[in-house]
Amino acid sequence: MEANKDIYYLSEHFVSLQGEGNCAGLNSFFLRFHFCNLACTWCDTKYTWFADSGKFQPYSSEELKALIRAHNTEHIILTGGEPTLYRLDNLVVPGKKYHVESNGVFIPTAPLAVTIADGTVFRREGMDESVIRHFNWVISPKLSNARQQINEQSISFWAKQDYCVFKFIIRDESDLDEIEGTLKRFNIAGNKVYVGLEGQSLESQLKPALVDEIIRRGLNFSPRLHAMLWGASRGK
Ligand code: SF4
Repeated sequence: MEANKDIYYLSEHFVSLQGEGNCAGLNSFFLRFHFCNLACTWCDTKYTWFADSGKFQPYSSEELKALIRAHNTEHIILTGGEPTLYRLDNLVVPGKKYHVESNGVFIPTAPLAVTIADGTVFRREGMDESVIRHFNWVISPKLSNARQQINEQSISFWAKQDYCVFKFIIRDESDLDEIEGTLKRFNIAGNKVYVGLEGQSLESQLKPALVDEIIRRGLNFSPRLHAMLWGASRGK
């Protein structure tokens, strides 16, 4: 299967609260794109990329904009899967505020031609930076706890942008050491970093000693409200 520049595959769309990152708590309309270039061990949306794991629907950019207009929410969350497999700059509707949740592997302004693990080929042109710099980009590089390689070139790109923040998901204190090493290597300031706790239950999110350590290291804490409120339910 090949995805061309005006086909967008969606796993689901729904209204909920933004669960995490620098805008946690905002009432938002979510577009969850199907397919991902990674395969993180702890991924909580495997239905977006596991072969035969989920249903998805094709939309054109005009159809997606109509869907966005039809929802009375100011904030639009473009998530996945990996949304930068698609041209997100073509989805702008005036009056809406866009947020992107990305693993940060692809540079959005560069052309993309990639074959992901299930054989699906994605090609798109580079996105228009004058458009996407108005989005709130939440870049989530994967730590070794996800068993994925970091892409140095793209993290170097993101480290220079003033329109993104970084989000890391941790299991324990050793992950914080790894984050600090990454921040030092790419010259990323701690005040641009949000750290959340792995897990999909309320209990997994209530670790005050680990949060104390996040604070002590000068980093921001990201709640994971969807996990606390609704566990592993879809569409939340
Ligand atoms: S990058 Fe995100 S969607 Fe893709 S496998 Fe990792 S956690 Fe899942």
